[in-house]
Formats: sequence, C-alpha cells, structure tokens
Amino acid sequence: MPELPEVQEVRRTLEPFVLNVKIADVKISRKSYIRSGATSLGGLIGHHVHHTARHGKKLFCIFDDGQVLLIHLGMSGRIDCCQPETPLAPHTHFSMLLATGMEFRMQDPRRFGGLWHYPDWAAAEKAEITGKMGVDALEVSASHFASWRTMHSRLKAHLLSQRTVAGLGNIYVDESLWLAQLHPLQVLSKIRLRHHAALAEAIHAVLDKSISMGGTTLRDYRNVAQQRGRFAQSLCVYGRGGLPCLHCGVKLTSKVIAGRTTVYCAQCQKRN
Ligand SMILES: [Zn+2]
Repeated sequence: MPELPEVQEVRRTLEPFVLNVKIADVKISRKSYIRSGATSLGGLIGHHVHHTARHGKKLFCIFDDGQVLLIHLGMSGRIDCCQPETPLAPHTHFSMLLATGMEFRMQDPRRFGGLWHYPDWAAAEKAEITGKMGVDALEVSASHFASWRTMHSRLKAHLLSQRTVAGLGNIYVDESLWLAQLHPLQVLSKIRLRHHAALAEAIHAVLDKSISMGGTTLRDYRNVAQQRGRFAQSLCVYGRGGLPCLHCGVKLTSKVIAGRTTVYCAQCQKRN
C-alpha cells in the first residue's frame, strides 16, 4: 500500500504533467470513485493545477480558482499520464484530457482509493486534516509526542491511526520502530523522553532514504512514469520475519499486532 514516500514520489512525477496545464475534458468511468463533492468534476474543465500539496498519504491538487481535488491511492491506486491513444488499462475509473494532448488516468483495481472534490482549501483542510490527522511525518519532532505521556494506547496501533503522525503505514512503522529500538506493543505513556527523540529521528531517516530511492514497490506501486520504487532492497525488518536482525543477529519475530503482520527484534526492541 502506498505510504508517505510513495505518495511523495507520485507527487514529484505528476507535477511536470499537470502544473499550469489546462484541463480540456474530464471522463468518469466509475461514478462511485468520486467520493464527495461535485461528482461530475466538470467544473475542473478550463482550469489548471496551480500547485500540489501532500499531508500524510493524501495528495491534493489545488487549482487556479481554488478548487481542490484530493487523490487517495488506497491500496492499489496508480496514476498514468500517457497519450490518449494508449490502450486503456483495466480498472481505469477516471481520466482528464490535458491541453498538452496528454491524458491523466487513474486506475485502482481494489478501489480502496478515490477522489474527493472541495470548493476550496479551507473546506479540504477541515474535512481531511484538522482534528483527524497529526503532523505530516516529514515534519515530526519529539515535541509532537508530548501528549503521549497521558495516553495508554499501544505504539504501533497509534502510529497506524495517523492521529499524532500522518503518513506511516505498516512498512515504515516497522522500519522506524526497529531503528528507534522501540517495541510495537509499547504503551505510549511509558515511553521515555529520549525515545521520543529517537523515534522522530528514526522516522526521518527511514522516510528520507525511501524517498531518495523512489519509495517501496512490493507489487502494484509505480510512480507516474511507471517506475518501481527501489527501497524494498533496503528494508531492515519488513518482510524479514525469521531472518537475523541486522543489528544483533537474533531471529526477527513475526506476529500480528494491530491487525497487521509485524516484524520486530525481541532482543533490540524491549518494552518499558
Ligand atoms: Zn536485534
């Protein structure tokens, strides 16, 4: 599933195709894929994407007149910008003809993703970010974990919830916890202050490295140029259950935690 680095890579590779390029036409093949707002999206025609923004795993296109189109890739969403005569991939739910003659297409076989339309940024922010999502993971610092001192939830489940830090999913939570030497079932209130700093540092290190490698492709994920991410070869724990910990050599534990297969080192990641 695309997490922050993959969405960031999609954003980077999408911008050259859409920034300041007028939308000539909009085609919706599956109406239910437009999750909210103006379901025809005809109001985008004649306008252009002025800039993009990202918060966690959500990618926003902000148009010249203020309209906002939120793109969520879900599990298997993929964007392609191609010549209109290119054969249509199965499960293409939405496309926009661009004034350059290229076509923006979004396909999503599993349909956990979708598009949300908002009249302006204030409406998008209120519906999508405020009160729902914590700080974007690239901006997180130890001070953002201050409220954890009174919270009794478990670390991995809380990170997956997006409420303190937005953008981490199963892969990058496991990688960050291993690097910070924190147990996925650690109770938040018992995490020591020095570990707050270690966790923030680990999140930055893992995400920065993945972004520099174009993200992680396990199966479906491709950027807009249809290239795979190369971070899978640098994963230290995800997918390595039963193999030796790269830090201490002990066999990594694989267990379902917070409903997700979780890999960690029982030797390096002790609970307080
Ligand atoms: Zn270890």
